[in-house]
Amino acid sequence: MAVTNSFQEQTRLIHGDSCDSAWRTPGPAIQRGSTVLVPSCEALYDSREVTYGRVGLSTQRVLRNALRDLEHADEAFIYPSGLAAITGTLLALVSSGDEILVCDTVYNPTRRFIAGTLAKFGVRARYFDPQATVAEIEAMLTPQTRLIFLESPGSLTFEMMDVPAIAAMANAAGIMTAIDNTWASGVLFKPLDHGIDVSIQSLTKYVCGHSDVFMGLAAARGRAVELLAASSYETGWAVSPDDAYMALRGLRTLPMRLAKHGEAALRVAQWLERQPEVLSVMCPALPSDPGHRIWKRDYTGMCGLIGAVMQPEAADRIDAMLESLELWGLGYSWGGFESLVIPSNPQITAREEKHSYPGPLIRLHVGLESVDDLLTDLRQGLDLLQFASNASQAKVRATA
Ligand SMILES: *Cc1c(COP(=O)(O)O)cnc(C)c1O
Repeated sequence: MAVTNSFQEQTRLIHGDSCDSAWRTPGPAIQRGSTVLVPSCEALYDSREVTYGRVGLSTQRVLRNALRDLEHADEAFIYPSGLAAITGTLLALVSSGDEILVCDTVYNPTRRFIAGTLAKFGVRARYFDPQATVAEIEAMLTPQTRLIFLESPGSLTFEMMDVPAIAAMANAAGIMTAIDNTWASGVLFKPLDHGIDVSIQSLTKYVCGHSDVFMGLAAARGRAVELLAASSYETGWAVSPDDAYMALRGLRTLPMRLAKHGEAALRVAQWLERQPEVLSVMCPALPSDPGHRIWKRDYTGMCGLIGAVMQPEAADRIDAMLESLELWGLGYSWGGFESLVIPSNPQITAREEKHSYPGPLIRLHVGLESVDDLLTDLRQGLDLLQFASNASQAKVRATA
């Protein structure tokens, strides 16, 4: 049964790779192999066929087709990590002497690659504030500008960018665009529908979804496809069939998991907004967030990742507070089933725009635990901050 595009996305994620055999497993076979045996000498040199396992066999192809469909792309390329997908895309799209414009809130390792490897090969980067207007970004273009690299919402501080407007400006100027779309996981936002050339995501996060597999995606349309095809072939990145299978398994339940994460994160965000220890919450789904209008216009939902600015008085005890949490683990990455938290100030120091946040920043990944339990745990942590106002609050609670 070939599943056509007339089905909803959720149905295609479940049935999109079904084969025609009457006797089959619901998932694809894991095809292992480096050598591919072919029927003739001529076939060894047939560039339309897979003649070597490194480029991926049937399991990787099933995954790539599903991801291509998810991101509304012409072709999907998979890499052994999200960072490899980012660096692979940059290497594919730019050449020595080119200049790239990058949003200042980009994932920190992306910035490191640009400052290190790309600079070594003579690619110059300039950064723009995520709140810059399209006209301000356009004013930065030079004849050498080749690519605009976006991430929306921004890493750690969650600023929303007007992606369709930036893409339209870049397209009119003949400049390529790429976006780190990990937050939306290819479900909540479809960058290629809005004029972006390459949508990148760390599949390590929600697609794999269980904090146990590394993988990345670059989904491309139009002129970017050929560049990515050549570059990924030349650089030799390969993903194992077992990991590809795990990513496919994650894809089946991706929309449902995301919906749960998003619902829970919104509740946590609204709750945090009401706590006296919290100065502000960074979450575009909140009406109070500066990015709310764009989020509402372009996105169909939110994931589980939010941030908060704590009251300045919290600075001394914030680490102790985070370490005291029972359910919220201290750890990098996100997108798995479990709740995580990190203090995030050290990661924004490389930015050009030195926003002075009045208090310490934290980033929370809201997992799939009971939200009530998560809030109880957070509240006991906040109590450790021992604000002057806490005494009266505790009294109110005790008498309530
Ligand atoms: C985690 C992450 C990456 C890198 O993904 P890995 O699979 O860990 O290499 C890239 N971009 C964003 C926004 C991320 O959160």
